[in-house]
Order: sequence, then C-alpha cells, then structure tokens
Amino acid sequence: MLGSIKGMFVTLKSAFKKPVTDEYPDKRRPVEARYMGFPALTWDYEVIEPFCTACMVCIRDCPTQCMTASMKDNVLYKEEKSHRRKIVDKFEINLNRCILCGICVEVCNFDAIVMSHEHEMSVQERNGDRVDLIELLDMGKRFQKDTKWIPPSQLKKRSSVSDKPPIVSPSDKDGI
Ligand code: SF4
Ligand code: SF4
Repeated sequence: MLGSIKGMFVTLKSAFKKPVTDEYPDKRRPVEARYMGFPALTWDYEVIEPFCTACMVCIRDCPTQCMTASMKDNVLYKEEKSHRRKIVDKFEINLNRCILCGICVEVCNFDAIVMSHEHEMSVQERNGDRVDLIELLDMGKRFQKDTKWIPPSQLKKRSSVSDKPPIVSPSDKDGI
C-alpha cells in the first residue's frame, strides 16, 4: 500500500515537471554553430557572384564522388569587376551519397564551399536529393546570413596582421 502511494506521488511529481524534450517537428532546437550539415556554396556579396570557380579540386577529392561541376568564362572578369577568370556554370551534389566528411571544404582554396546547417532534407524519391547550383547557393546564403560568415582567407589575413610585431623605428631601438 505504502509502495503504491509512493509510486503515485512520483508519477504526480513528474506530471507537473517541465519536459526536457521537445516535440519534433513542431518545435526544433537550433543546431550548434560548429554543426556540419550538408555542403553548400557561398556567395560573394562584394562582387555579386559565387566564390566557386569550378576548379574541380573538391570534386576530385570527394570520397563518394557525389559532386559534378562545370565552368565558364566569367563576364565580370572581362569587365574588370571580378578577379575570377573562370566561374562556376553548373554544380550538382547528390546529397543522398554525401557522408558529411567536410573534405570538400578543407581542400577548397577559394572559400567557395561550407558545411551548412541544413540537415532535414530527406525525400522519398531515389534521386530526390540531387541539388543544383541555385539550391546550393541558396543553402549557402542562408548559412552565411545565420552565422554572419566571413571567408576563412579573410579571417587568416586579419589574424596575421594582428600577429605581426609592431614596427620599431631605428630611433626607438637606440633609445634616442
Ligand atoms: S567549391 Fe572550391 S574546390 Fe570545389 S570546385 Fe568550387 S572552387 Fe573548386
Ligand atoms: S562532405 Fe564529403 S562526401 Fe559530402 S560532398 Fe563534401 S567531400 Fe563529398
């Protein structure tokens, strides 16, 4: 009898406790900043074009060979508005085959690809998760906006400038 009362007491106590879980999909928790979702392409807001030159480095190094791309001559380069002689024309990733390893991001020399925060992209069709250039850039823009993304090469430049020792004039050295 005492055991039953104790059990009932525990049940009642739990019933009024704030739940520690959220009911998916009505409530979604934000992912951590360093979360690695599906890869996405970044957009250069200064030049108004993608960062990607379709150099093929990430495509060659992708362990699952789930990416394809092609390049074209960059019109903005001819107009001297961009430093990119070639620019991406088509890009496709089969996200069903992507293993989220991040190698494409590591090997890209142009800050052109990121591991976005996108992760809820399941579909029922076998080839339904093939995403094209427009969608990859949309995913990238969302990531850039949400994380206030700064190209890693710019961050490196900034930190190397701040790491430089202060310039000491000869008169300072000699204590004149
Ligand atoms: S994402 Fe980077 S490595 Fe891949 S094709 Fe574009 S520029 Fe080259
Ligand atoms: S995260 Fe890995 S598997 Fe996915 S596209 Fe990049 S290199 Fe390929």
